[in-house]
Amino acid sequence: MRMLKNNLGYPRVGPRRELKKACEGYWSGQLSRSALFMAATQVREANLQLQKDAGVDLVPCNDFSLYDQVLDMSLLLGAIPDRYTPVVTDVANNAEIDLYFAMARGYQRDGLDITAMEMTKWFDTNYHYIVPEFKAHQTFRIFSNKVFAETGAARHFLGHVPKPVLIGPVSYLLLGKEKEAGFNKIDLIKNLVPVYVDILNKLQADYQVEWVQLDEPFLAMDLTEAQQQAFHYAYAEIKKNCPHIKILLTTYFGALGDNTALATGLPVSALHIDLVRAPQQLETVLQALPAEVSLSLGVIDGRNIWKNDYEKSKTLLQRAVEVLGSARVMIAPSCSLLHSPFDLDAEVKLPDEVRNWMAFAKQKLQEMSELHAILEGNTSLLLANQQAMEQRRTSTRIHQPAVKNRVAALTEQDATRTQPFAARQRLQHARFKLPLFPTTTIGSFPQTADIRQLRARWKKGELTQAQYESALEQATIEIIRWQEAVGLDVLVHGEFERNDMVEYFGEQLAGFLFTTNGWVQSYGSRCVKPPVIFGDVWRPADMTVRWSSFAQSHTRQWMKGMLTGPVTILQWSFVRDDQPRSVTANQIALAIRDEVVALEAAGIAIIQIDEPAIREGLPLRQQDRAAYLEWAVKAFRISASGVQDQTQIHTHMCYSEFNDIIAHIAAMDADVITIETSRSQMELLEAFAGFKYPNEIGPGVYDIHSPRVPSVAEMEALLEKAAALLPVKNIWVNPDCGLKTRAWPETKAALENMIAAAKAARVKM
Ligand code: GLN
Ligand code: ZN
Repeated sequence: MRMLKNNLGYPRVGPRRELKKACEGYWSGQLSRSALFMAATQVREANLQLQKDAGVDLVPCNDFSLYDQVLDMSLLLGAIPDRYTPVVTDVANNAEIDLYFAMARGYQRDGLDITAMEMTKWFDTNYHYIVPEFKAHQTFRIFSNKVFAETGAARHFLGHVPKPVLIGPVSYLLLGKEKEAGFNKIDLIKNLVPVYVDILNKLQADYQVEWVQLDEPFLAMDLTEAQQQAFHYAYAEIKKNCPHIKILLTTYFGALGDNTALATGLPVSALHIDLVRAPQQLETVLQALPAEVSLSLGVIDGRNIWKNDYEKSKTLLQRAVEVLGSARVMIAPSCSLLHSPFDLDAEVKLPDEVRNWMAFAKQKLQEMSELHAILEGNTSLLLANQQAMEQRRTSTRIHQPAVKNRVAALTEQDATRTQPFAARQRLQHARFKLPLFPTTTIGSFPQTADIRQLRARWKKGELTQAQYESALEQATIEIIRWQEAVGLDVLVHGEFERNDMVEYFGEQLAGFLFTTNGWVQSYGSRCVKPPVIFGDVWRPADMTVRWSSFAQSHTRQWMKGMLTGPVTILQWSFVRDDQPRSVTANQIALAIRDEVVALEAAGIAIIQIDEPAIREGLPLRQQDRAAYLEWAVKAFRISASGVQDQTQIHTHMCYSEFNDIIAHIAAMDADVITIETSRSQMELLEAFAGFKYPNEIGPGVYDIHSPRVPSVAEMEALLEKAAALLPVKNIWVNPDCGLKTRAWPETKAALENMIAAAKAARVKM
């Protein structure tokens, strides 16, 4: 039995985020170019060594990147926007790497001020890529040498040829954006494919490369006719002009679905499919796969931290072997391991029982070879794995019957407020007596170095609990006094006690754990350390009541309670794979609901449940969206519906477009929603207006991502626009989002102007 072990990509920030530190050192001028390259080489070589030791047959190269793999492609293909020309021509100062970082981060030097390229989310992950920019007569040529250099270096290091990884031509175009009118980016395929042909031929001629991995994740998405044609065209051309290179066509993040015939019809040597997201597709793909084409089975979850269930994977692999023969079967992770944290062995604080359920990137490499051994008849490895799985299925650490029963007993009534919005609005207006255009903020005030230091010292044990809390109380009282003085209508406590809007709750909920080193790249040098939801979630004690009631007791104005919603907590964590996401969402929803009810009982009359991540959870395929929206909206409603009708529920959402989900946003039935709109000049409000959105709404009137202070007139104009679109009695006035990343001077100045704009609007409208 000879199945190839095929790895698709490896995390590149380094086990201790060495690359992050090197890049940031280089950007700040503290580290030389050669020191940066040295750090990069060390990460690459360590990764290759790990994969070699684990017996990986197809070891990826060019999966490494100093910033982003899509930006690497733009540089390789010479798709460099014209505004960077001065950086290219300033050869005295710059190397290719400076052009590269200029495209990623912008360029301010020698009187030049060139903006960075746009960044957006990589499919439904939390990784962000740099969006390629295309003009109407976009041309391509081999510009960067990186893929060749890394292939040569990896070949030298490994002593055999590696497998270069490139984003496939169709997906590369679809990831980009037309920056001029009058053309469709997919039509650039004819200009683009000849450059791919040159690259592939050069890889083969100069480095004797056998396999090349072309990532085409769009094969698992909805495709138009023209996009399908582009696939046919591109792969036929590649086959014709590079007949001897073996193409590993790689798909992930979903099922091929209606693209199965397209994908299996392309003239390639192997196809990779994601069997973690879509195990059901194996049978149809096996039936459709032409003779001679190999199949890479993505059975190991590249996007989560759980140990592989060998029994399940074995069944899939055996079935493939039965149909194709072992020579045509490859064992692989579902997608690049980029989305997994580095090494479980570095987690010294985890209880052994829990550790035994988990696998990070390094362990996933091991899983490939263990699966291989199991298919060859090793029973002890299988047995040990079955024991771990069985333990996880029955562990009392995970399974809380009371939580499961409560979720099972949920009814429609639990997800519904007592009276419809119109009746609630009357009660609330009578109770709160707020002016027209009431002003508020989204929750956080600047998390200054002082506040962060305070928390760090407390965590290190340098401050007692009492000292820490009294310093936080001081900060909270100060911000309450300031809000009163400046004339805000609904106050917040400032969130000074919170490190992060998900972590703060995860740390207090049962069913969550936190890793010490479980970093995953988010963009560039930025990494996140998502909490792990490993067990049934419940709320052992009040989480925010202490701070909200403290704050309310120091003012006669309304103090808004502040919570993170169930969908956002789910979306920004590593989630259990042993039950549907919807069930986990409902467990979190009930925990948040308990907190909402506790806040109400403690005298908090206005409670905000933030859900910035609702939209980003939207499935990639159209056909899966309705089901997601249904349970996501329901989870929010469960969290919000335990209160009396005179209690006002707010929600908040940022970085979202609402057009296609407006009915579902309305179905959340929050009494007030605050949204990010200022950068779109209120354009995002049109969805609400068109839908005749009935509830109250606070369109953000200023951008909190920049230190710029908007003028009163500017914000007044935005309010006028809003008033033209929505009933005046429904409009709130607030910034786009929380203020925690801002400094005090601009925060105070901007809010003063915002309040002046609201007052002017009250007089005029
Ligand atoms: N209440 C949070 C804050 O103000 C909301 C943050 C967010 O939407 N991302 O910081
Ligand atoms: Zn926000």
